[in-house]
Amino acid sequence: MAAGGFFYCADADRHVAVLRAQLQRLVTRSPFYAQKLEGLPVAKFDQMGAIADLPMTTLSEIRLSQMQALPLGLHAVADLSDVRFIHSSSGTTAPPHYVGVTARDWENWVATAQDCFSINGVGEGDVVLDALGFGMFTGGLPIAAGFQRLGATVVPAGPVDPKSLLRIANDTRIKFMICTPSYIDHLTDHLGEDGLTIPTLRGILLGAEPGGSIPELRRVIERITGVPAVEGLGNADLMPIFAARCGLSEGNHLVATNGLLLELVDPATDRVLPFDDGVEGELVATHLARECTPVVRLRTGDIVRAHLTPCPCGRTTPRLTCLGRIDDAVVIDDRRILPSQVQAVVAAFNPETTLAFEIVHRRDDDRLHLRAEYGIDVGDVGHLQRRLTAALAERLHVPSEITLLPPHTLPRYEMKSRRLWRA
Ligand SMILES: [Zn+2]
Repeated sequence: MAAGGFFYCADADRHVAVLRAQLQRLVTRSPFYAQKLEGLPVAKFDQMGAIADLPMTTLSEIRLSQMQALPLGLHAVADLSDVRFIHSSSGTTAPPHYVGVTARDWENWVATAQDCFSINGVGEGDVVLDALGFGMFTGGLPIAAGFQRLGATVVPAGPVDPKSLLRIANDTRIKFMICTPSYIDHLTDHLGEDGLTIPTLRGILLGAEPGGSIPELRRVIERITGVPAVEGLGNADLMPIFAARCGLSEGNHLVATNGLLLELVDPATDRVLPFDDGVEGELVATHLARECTPVVRLRTGDIVRAHLTPCPCGRTTPRLTCLGRIDDAVVIDDRRILPSQVQAVVAAFNPETTLAFEIVHRRDDDRLHLRAEYGIDVGDVGHLQRRLTAALAERLHVPSEITLLPPHTLPRYEMKSRRLWRA
């Protein structure tokens, strides 16, 4: 790699042969890739920089490919008899699609998850309550398998009701809980801040939505739970988890260095950006060796920021912060606003505000319409509203129209929250 280059790939000299073999396999076995890469000399792919010559893939293409050949699509390159799991994307912002996992893919998923949770601080013998959903979600079974591989004990509670959570957590003496940031909000909304009492708890692992990358929100979660909060990044198309936060610097250390080649693209211009410290763009990823449902230059829809400064922990891989989904962005005054940016401002006011909020986007209105809740002890709601308006203007440089509602008015979510409504 790397700094100054237009992609990140660990040990490009070694992996170029791996990717060449992968591309040859794709054009031979997949009608989708045979057409997509037609006329390109993949057999002569001998330097990673040539990745720029390959076409990008969109999630719409993946979904169309799947509809043309259910269950896994024309881009799948493994025999169904070799597929050990079929999972799916969560379908939060777009219709869900399936991903296939061979035994080798599963091994890579689990080994990568194991390394990620080790970075998060989980160790052998630790009891981890898994409050993520199971079922088709890639954050379910593969995540639990990663903990198991680490020698931890998994309590697969799922996002249960708050009283059950407390009972199970205390009965099993958990040391860690993995959940979405929204689930913490859901718990405290029901239990109150004093109610989330788990004396054995030593850390919260956040994932499945961008909140864990927002320092202001992490601070609130750490205050509520009384323990450090870390994060992991993943998605159904690439890997359930491929990067993890050590807690000593911003961002999540990339772990899947043997499996992914990453690029950053400006979603407005489609221009590939330098993979440099501080650069923000849409994450574009290529599987180096995925056996089933591999992707080539997939535009993931995730807006990320790259961190390449040294980390005190000594790990040298780049770190990524997930800022949100491009589908959730609203454009006001030519500025792209992501819900996570609004969430950072709202969370900074907690406990004067709760953590619940909604953005209502009206195409014909150049103001940010925000619905949020004032906290239970707030006396002067008008004063809070003026300070919140000023903070949004200062941080996001857009005018806003804020409606402050009583506590417990807006919906809570046990898994991923919906923050954006388009009117
Ligand atoms: Zn680190």
